[in-house]
Amino acid sequence: MRNLSREELLDKIEECGIQEYGLCSGSLRGRIGEAAAKMEKTGGQGAIVCALNNADLDGILLDLLKDEPEKVMNGIDIAALALGAEKKTLHIPEYAQHLADDAVLTEMLGQHQISLEVGIVDVRADAACLLLHLVTAVELAEAFAQDAAAKACYYVSVNGKKLQRVEGSARIAELADIGDAKVLRLGYAYYPAEAAQLTVAEARIENGVIAVLPSGECIVRDAQEQMTASRKQSCGKCVFCREGLLQLQFMQKEIAEGRGKMDYLDLTEEIGSAMTFSGMCTLGQTAPKLALSAVSSFREEYEGHIRKKKCSAGACFSAETYYIDPKLCTGCGDCSDVCPQDCIEGKAKYIHMIDTVDCGRCGKCLEACGDGAVVCTEGKLPKLPNRLTKVGKFRR
Ligand code: SF4
Ligand code: SF4
Ligand code: SF4
Repeated sequence: MRNLSREELLDKIEECGIQEYGLCSGSLRGRIGEAAAKMEKTGGQGAIVCALNNADLDGILLDLLKDEPEKVMNGIDIAALALGAEKKTLHIPEYAQHLADDAVLTEMLGQHQISLEVGIVDVRADAACLLLHLVTAVELAEAFAQDAAAKACYYVSVNGKKLQRVEGSARIAELADIGDAKVLRLGYAYYPAEAAQLTVAEARIENGVIAVLPSGECIVRDAQEQMTASRKQSCGKCVFCREGLLQLQFMQKEIAEGRGKMDYLDLTEEIGSAMTFSGMCTLGQTAPKLALSAVSSFREEYEGHIRKKKCSAGACFSAETYYIDPKLCTGCGDCSDVCPQDCIEGKAKYIHMIDTVDCGRCGKCLEACGDGAVVCTEGKLPKLPNRLTKVGKFRR
């Protein structure tokens, strides 16, 4: 590959027919050409930034970095040579920060002179940079290694299981066991179970996610969790993304907890639709699609929560409350480490406290506490600390 001139590399990329993966789709040859033209116009040095879409909250496709790191590095190298760019960066999301401590990956990055950055990709930072999806890098390396045309394939994981490379014509029903589930989360949208007849390409599964929500899981709660995760990932620079996600999360939460109003459905549609074209990056543009598809495909479910305080999955309106017994808590922090809602406040040697409004009643803290301090009750709560209190200092 290093023996090829820039023009020869570009011709080969075109011959292989490689398409940019994910939300910034288009032919890779064309995208390199656009970045090169910007480089020439601005006199910039050009750079390759290899990353997932900012909108990718599940990080399933990061498995490629663990399974095929050499291909990712080679793909970045080929793209950099084709663009004539010297700067190469691999970007990983904040939730995957632990990869920055991976010794093998660090060594490999050093060998390929690729720098590592953690956090959201700033799409405005460098006009002459080429955004290369992690999957595109792998496909590029593979096409060059095999000297063959690239086949349009997708990488998917069913319910978080091992990533598989499948053709776009594969049907969801062939890949996943739908059982009695009513809801599917495919890519960046919710669908009714009948959508299992769609192909992977039709459902545009660009983040690798095929999630079959079991009948006991509530669509409103799942949408709320997705909005919470999007808010955590958002950099907050665009008003629509920052404020819109706050509103969408608030409304899903209010509906799930029985305080929803019918207006929230129209408002979710209004705010969500405006966000799809107002955000600067794929996160702000795509995250609202989850709330939009939830409201449009499962309107009856939402109306049931609002008008009748009824959740057909039986997941909402539970009389159960979780709390931490201040006399038994040793302040070890095991409960907060496992809490998916991030709703347990505390620090080492202080009595921990559960925010009952945010608590999703999953019971994980109860399982994690080795001191029997987490209690689940349907009765009245005892007197509990209302601020951080050192272990042993709480008086009823
Ligand atoms: S849409 Fe804007 S605020 Fe949201 S993550 Fe992207 S750049 Fe940040
Ligand atoms: S509730 Fe249990 S797990 Fe949580 S800090 Fe207290 S002792 Fe540790
Ligand atoms: S029940 Fe689940 S959501 Fe609630 S505090 Fe415990 S771990 Fe967190």
